[in-house]
Amino acid sequence: MSEEVKLECVPLCSVSMPASPKQEVLCIFGTGDFGRSLGQRLLQSGYKVVYGSRRPHSCGPLPSGTQVMSHEAAAQTANLVFICVHRDHYNFLETLAPQLRGKVLVDVSNNLKKNQYPEANAEYLQRLVPGAHVVKSFNTLSAWALQNGPSDANRQVYLCGNNTEAKQLVTEAATKLGFSVLDRGSLSAATELEDFPLQLFPEWRLPIALAIGLTATFFFYLVIRDVVYAYVVQEKDISFRIMVSLANKVFPIVSLIMLSLCYLPGLIAAFLQLHRGTKYKRFPDWLDRWMLCRKQLGLLALAFAFLHVLYTLIIPIRYYVRYKIGASTISKIKENKTSEFDTTVAWRTDSYYSMGILGFGLYLLLGISSLPSVSNALSWREFSFIQTSAPSAMCGQKPHPHSTGLGEGQSRRCQQENTANVGL
Ligand code: NAP
Repeated sequence: MSEEVKLECVPLCSVSMPASPKQEVLCIFGTGDFGRSLGQRLLQSGYKVVYGSRRPHSCGPLPSGTQVMSHEAAAQTANLVFICVHRDHYNFLETLAPQLRGKVLVDVSNNLKKNQYPEANAEYLQRLVPGAHVVKSFNTLSAWALQNGPSDANRQVYLCGNNTEAKQLVTEAATKLGFSVLDRGSLSAATELEDFPLQLFPEWRLPIALAIGLTATFFFYLVIRDVVYAYVVQEKDISFRIMVSLANKVFPIVSLIMLSLCYLPGLIAAFLQLHRGTKYKRFPDWLDRWMLCRKQLGLLALAFAFLHVLYTLIIPIRYYVRYKIGASTISKIKENKTSEFDTTVAWRTDSYYSMGILGFGLYLLLGISSLPSVSNALSWREFSFIQTSAPSAMCGQKPHPHSTGLGEGQSRRCQQENTANVGL
């Protein structure tokens, strides 16, 4: 039996004549800082850009190769319109509702403070232009970041919206611009996205509070134990030690506790996963929060170690130490005594300082490798090798394959995926 094979014909392009794909047109309302920077990036990424402006003939300099026209005319040219105008001026969009029907409107706006308006800017825009599909995105980027292109620390854009195809369109544009996109769900998440740029070091609050609490606790404990006790029992005033000696005792203690707090949640998470028998289950909120601030805990631990190094270096120039050395030398001269050179003591002190410097070097290595620009240049294997080997070397232990380091990025990813992956 002969089998009839039907060949499908595919139109072929000549190799010498490359097919020129039609440039996709995107529209930007507003020729201000953000609109200009966005237009520049879109042009560089291969889009054709058309600006909509109130004064198309007298607006400031725009990226060359772009067109500028009235809002009405510009809206007709593209399916995707970036609204790079402050929320206070959105009311003009209401009159453009017929031209914007069915279009995707990207709301990039931010507010000056939280809860400035009863509803999110993007929801307000959706109310003004109900026939359009509003997507909130790009608001966490600055005009400066857009101009310079995505950097390691500024690679992510968030988006939310009610229409899946509209979000897909915005995702494609953002990806083409070199950003990675994180979908935060429906338009009701817009308030959260609009609050992002207003947050001031949110991930640092808990670690800083911890660092201050630990420092204050140990400092007061040492003041009472070393200074107050000596004054009350021996009637000796050694309060001058508060400034350097006591501080230098507190820093390494706090540093080591913070370092342990940086690694402890990874271990707890690992045990939790073993206990549950799966990694696809959410961690409790407290653990999630703790995991997310490991990088900050680690960096603060490094800062305290650095202070310890500095305070230790100034010991020889302290008045108290110089006085003690001088007094001891004079008393030896008076007694005509010379103390023998003790090799054991020399070995012990040199080893002590050498280990301290090496430990601090490893500490620095951990800190540097957790910086986004450095960690992004490392493969996961290289990153986890450093993050597991360095602390183990500092503690003189064999690295554990599942111990977790300062890699906050991975923890965040793990949280976002709702998985409990601790073997980062
Ligand atoms: P901008 O430099 O002040 O520009 C705003 C533009 O809006 C103006 O150039 C003007 O363009 C248009 N406009 C002003 N008044 C208007 C009115 N009454 N009716 C209609 N259009 C009007 O502001 P921007 O810094 O570019 O910010 C634009 C939006 O991006 C804001 O919502 C802001 O929150 C958001 N954003 C900015 C940044 C940033 O780094 N700048 C970062 C994130 C988000 P025409 O004269 O051409 O009409």
